[in-house]
Amino acid sequence: MKVSAHRAFRLLKELAFVRVSASKEERLAAERLMQEAMEAADEVRIEEFPVWCGKVTHQKLVVTNPYYKEYEVTGYECAASTPESGIDGEFYYAEGLQAAHLDRMKDKIIMINGRLRRADYEKIQKVGVKAILTFSGSTIDRVNETDCDIRKIREMLFEPFGDQVALNMRAADAAEIVRRGAKTMHIELKSEKYEDMSANVCAVIEGTEKKDEIISFGAHYDSVHFSTGVYDNMSGSVILMELLKYFSEHRPRRTMKFNWYGSEEQGLLGSKAWVKAHEDELDKHVLMINVDVAAPTLGQNIAPTLATEKAVGYVDALMREAGFACDVKMDIYSSDCIPFADKGVPAVNFCRFGAPGANYIHDRRDNLKSNYIDEKALDITLQQVLFFAGRVDGASVFPIEKKISDEIKKKVDEYLFKEKKA
Ligand SMILES: [Zn+2]
Repeated sequence: MKVSAHRAFRLLKELAFVRVSASKEERLAAERLMQEAMEAADEVRIEEFPVWCGKVTHQKLVVTNPYYKEYEVTGYECAASTPESGIDGEFYYAEGLQAAHLDRMKDKIIMINGRLRRADYEKIQKVGVKAILTFSGSTIDRVNETDCDIRKIREMLFEPFGDQVALNMRAADAAEIVRRGAKTMHIELKSEKYEDMSANVCAVIEGTEKKDEIISFGAHYDSVHFSTGVYDNMSGSVILMELLKYFSEHRPRRTMKFNWYGSEEQGLLGSKAWVKAHEDELDKHVLMINVDVAAPTLGQNIAPTLATEKAVGYVDALMREAGFACDVKMDIYSSDCIPFADKGVPAVNFCRFGAPGANYIHDRRDNLKSNYIDEKALDITLQQVLFFAGRVDGASVFPIEKKISDEIKKKVDEYLFKEKKA
C-alpha cells in the first residue's frame, strides 16, 4: 500500500466544518477519525479531558458621550459578567501598556491593540479597570465578508489574575470610536464559565523489534470559531491518517503512536492532557513528529525542530538527501510539540506555510472555497514526513539524541509562562 494524497484530501473534505473545542462538531470529527483509524491501527481509543468553556448570552456596547451609538461586539467567553443593568464608565484607548498609559487607565473601560496576551492581562488586572475592549480584523473589512471574532479569556489568564469583563469588536468600529473621541460608554455582558469535555483520538501500531521505543505522531484536529480549519489543521490530521495506514502495512521496528489532539487552539489543551495522562511512558518516547498546517498551493516548507544542533543537522541532511526543499531550523513552534519538549521529548514539526496572499489562518477564509489548498501540495508534506519517519524508524540506533538544547528549553519555559528560577 502507498500513501495517497487523494484519499487524504477526500477525508479532509468530509471533515471541512467548524470544530471548536468541546463542541459537538469537534466530537463528530473525533469519531470520524477514530472510525478511519480503526481500519488500520492495532488499538484506537478516544481519551477525554476537561476544558473550560464559555457561553455568552448577552453583550452590548453603546458610546454615550459625546455621541450616542451602539456597536456590534462579542463578549469574551469565560469573562466576568456585568450587573444586569450594565456598567457605565469613561473610555480610554491604551494603545500600549507603557507606564504612561497604565497611569491613566484605572477604573476606566480600556481598549488595547491586538490580542489580550497574558503579560498584558496581568498588568491590566494590577491597575484595575472596569472592562477591556479588543478589536480584530482590519479597518477595511467589509461587514458582510468578515466576522466579529469570538474570543476567550483562557484559564492561564483568569486563574492567576482573576476575572474581568471583556468584549471584542471590529477594527473599523474601534477606529471610529477613537476618531470620534468617545468619552463614556455603557457596557452589558452576560458570560458563563463551565467545564466540558474535549477529546484526543489515540491510535497505536506496535513495533516489531523495538517495542519500547516510541515514535509519537501528533496533529490537532480542532479549529477556531468561524473557521473550517482545512489548512489549520485538518491538513495535518489527514496526513497523519495516511501515515497510520502506511505503517499498519509496512510494520515499523519501533512502536508508533498517532494522536489527533483536540482543543489545541485553546492553548494546546489536548497535548497537555495527553502528556499528563501518559507521563509514566514518556521515557519511552524517543521523538515527537508534529504536523500542523499543510497543503497551500502557494507555499513553503519548514521544519522547526525542538532538540539539539546535531538533530537539526540530521533532519536537514535527510531532507537534502531526498531532494526535499525544507527549511529545517532549531526553534519552538506554537503547537502540540511544546508539552512533549517540556518533558524532554525532542520534536520535529513538518509544516507547509501559505505564501503571502495565500495564508488564511484562524478566520472564515480558511475553507475550501478560498481555493488555496490542494491535494498535490498536501502530498509535499505527506512525502516529507513519510520519508523522515521511515528513516528514523529504520535506524539501528535511534539517530536523534533524547536531548533538548538550553536555547529551546528556555523558549519552551517562556512559552508555558514558567516562573524563572531565582
Ligand atoms: Zn494549528
